[in-house]
This record gives sequence, structure tokens and C-alpha cells, in this order.
Amino acid sequence: MGELNAELRSVLGAARAWLEELSEEGIERIEAPRAAEPEPAAAPLDGLEAVRGELGECTRCRLHEGRSRIVFGDGNPQAELMFVGEGPGAEEDRQGLPFVGRAGELLTAMIEKGLGLPRSEVYICNIVKCRPPGNRDPSADEAATCQPFLDGQIDAVRPRVIVSLGKPATRLLLGREVAITRLRGQWQDYRGIPVMPTLHPAYVLRQYTPENRRAVWDDLRAALARARGEA
Ligand code: URA
Repeated sequence: MGELNAELRSVLGAARAWLEELSEEGIERIEAPRAAEPEPAAAPLDGLEAVRGELGECTRCRLHEGRSRIVFGDGNPQAELMFVGEGPGAEEDRQGLPFVGRAGELLTAMIEKGLGLPRSEVYICNIVKCRPPGNRDPSADEAATCQPFLDGQIDAVRPRVIVSLGKPATRLLLGREVAITRLRGQWQDYRGIPVMPTLHPAYVLRQYTPENRRAVWDDLRAALARARGEA
């Protein structure tokens, strides 16, 4: 006990001497060391990145077995116009980007030369993100399995207008069987967003008639005008 008191007295004495020295140097207060600043929270994931992250290296349906790459989507994450196609073809599967094959060249020309917009200003995706074997139409269960990711893309981009390209995309968005050649050009709705159904560019390439080209041209112009609040 006596030893402890002596030690305490000596520590207090040293501390007092140190404080007096500081005071002579004009230092009146010693700030307690500050706790380290917490790391700033990571910026919230961009909506589309979050959807892509959730999709992951998807194996939810059989389409994953034949794919080389997932084809998620391409373009402006804040686009006013969103194009929804059917599913990746061979070139899309190779590059991991939607609409980069022959049908894609026509779609890109319609957007860039027809509407006068850079392709990078719109957002383009498909109802399924993996190539159906032999370019067959996606089955109802494959499209349904992928639909939450399409919905996620629509929620993230919040386009003013969706253009559905061809029958499978239009059927999925409307939730019913459609005759695309009759329905095209007539405004529809998907979860509160106006939908303009039109012919798929691959169909237009197969049936390359002035009527079909004119029809798609009219539909795209109507879609752009509505997206810009001009119609
Ligand atoms: N056809 C589609 O529907 N989507 C593509 O990405 C390419 C061709």
C-alpha cells in the first residue's frame, strides 16, 4: 500500500510538472484525441447495377446452359425511351450486348438515322438475358423467370415510353396473346408506363417491304413524340 502511494505521488508529481511546463509555454488545454472519423458510407448502388448484381451468374432457368454471356442491357440508365426485344442472338451472346447483330444494325439505324438520337441515349434490353438455343422464342416459363429482372431495369431507368419489339416482348408486357401486326402502333400500358408495340427488326429484315418499314417508322416517331411530351 505504502509503495503504491509513493508511486502514485511520483506519477502525480511528474504530471503536475509537465502541466506546469505546458502552462509556461502558454498551452492551457489539451484536446482529448478524437475518435477516428467513420468511413463515409459507400454510395448506394446504381439501380441498374443492383439489378445486375442480383441477377449474378444466373442459373435460374435452362437458358443458362447454352449461353456464352449474359446480355443484360445497354444504353443510358436514365433514358426516356426504352426498347425491349426478345432475347439475345448469336452475335449478342458473343459480345454480351443487345441488338448488335443484323437486326441490331437495323434497330440502331432506325434510332440514329430515323429518330436522330445516338443509340447511347436510349436503353435497350430483352425479356430474357440469355440466348435461346437456335434463336427460338423464349418459352413462357423462361420469360417469367427473367421478368423480375426486366421489371428491375424498368424501375431503375423509369423510361417515359417503352417500345416493345415484336410479339414475344409485347405478349410478356401485356400478359396476353397478341397479333403484333394488328396491335402495333396502338398505345398500351405496362405498370403505368406507355408501351408502343411495333414489329421486331428481324421481322422487318425478313419482310423488307415499304409498308413494314413505314409502320415501324411511324411507331418510333410516335414513341419519341410521347416521350418528349409532344403528343
Ligand atoms: N433480337 C432480339 O430480340 N434481341 C437482341 O438482342 C437481338 C436480336
